[in-house]
Amino acid sequence: MIIGVPKEIKNNENRVSLTPGGALELIRRGHRVLVQHDAGRNSGLPDEIYEKQGCEILPTIEDVYKNAEMIIKVKEPIEQEYDLIQPNQLVFTYFHFASHEPLTKAMIKSDAICLAYETVKDSKGGLPLLIPMSEVAGRMSIQAGASYLEMPHKGRGILLGGVPGVQPAHVLILGGGVVGTQAAKMAAGLGAKVTILDINLDRLRYLADILPANVTTLYSNEYNIRNLVKSHDLIIGAVLIPGAKAPNLVTRDMLKTMRPGAVLVDVAVDQGGCIETCKPTTHADPTFVIDDIVHYCVANMPGAVPYTSTVALTNATLPFAIQLAEKGWKKACTENAALKEGLNVVNGKVVYKAVANAFDLEY
Ligand code: NAD
Repeated sequence: MIIGVPKEIKNNENRVSLTPGGALELIRRGHRVLVQHDAGRNSGLPDEIYEKQGCEILPTIEDVYKNAEMIIKVKEPIEQEYDLIQPNQLVFTYFHFASHEPLTKAMIKSDAICLAYETVKDSKGGLPLLIPMSEVAGRMSIQAGASYLEMPHKGRGILLGGVPGVQPAHVLILGGGVVGTQAAKMAAGLGAKVTILDINLDRLRYLADILPANVTTLYSNEYNIRNLVKSHDLIIGAVLIPGAKAPNLVTRDMLKTMRPGAVLVDVAVDQGGCIETCKPTTHADPTFVIDDIVHYCVANMPGAVPYTSTVALTNATLPFAIQLAEKGWKKACTENAALKEGLNVVNGKVVYKAVANAFDLEY
């Protein structure tokens, strides 16, 4: 198969979808890998390293899209890329369709096969291609939150871990999945007082077992959230309903009850956000303030640590990319139920129920 690796062009997205090591695995199996010039540069992976593995370096994004049977990307195509996608081309990337109607309609029109990383699901219900980025974003959410709690960043001027004789910050984490667990570990490690909420009791039991004593687990409901936001300095939004828009757990009216200078980090922004006042921001301009509450809602947080993210992502995607290249998407999806769950739009038809429901489309 001919596999194309375009350079990511979304604002501040520095990851690349395939490492030279991954490319070598595909080339050793007889496939061709076309890499756009400088695709890996911002992840510390210059063209020469790809060339040494046998990749072909193409000068423009158009060359890559025109000549590849499978495009492997990181982020969803942005408007400039819509018309580059060819009919019947397999596009393997994050799409997050349910929160993006224009993208969904453009991909229906493209007649391509859109296999979304975020809905590939294993037999235990795990999302193997979301996990590595969630690990990165979860850890980063605390670094970012701690920084925006500083007064020069419009925060309330509290050090996350406090110092001897001074109260640490209180961190509230909504959702105890991968993002929430990593956030809890980081915040607890820095000495903050952490409360983590989930609706899954088994998950709360597990978290109570593995997390340190400065983390409290609580059941997630409106009553608890309404009370907790009043006393917490940093709130991390980390819920997920797979393939659907995130529920609004922190509503606009709750902001007035919070401590001025408190910080909201809505990691779930890529699924529409779980904080009502959240709207997507970029690394270039990551925050805005509403009712004295600092909002950080960067939709591609792992893009800021491209070395870590590129390697973590490709560790997870490569086994699937190899199956797609070896068998073609139809056979690979028939033989691997996890991969089949990733099919969202196929030749002009939405084949993923939550996406069809989100926009009232035929399914
Ligand atoms: P996950 O499935 O591992 O965890 C989600 C958790 O939310 C689950 O434990 C679930 O039970 C819980 N949940 C569902 N409804 C809830 C509710 N009402 N209250 C409390 N908990 C609830 O998902 P994840 O991998 O941790 O991802 C979380 C979010 O972060 C997703 O939206 C994901 O797309 C997003 N994400 C964003 C970035 C970014 O750069 N902004 C990066 C990675 C992941």
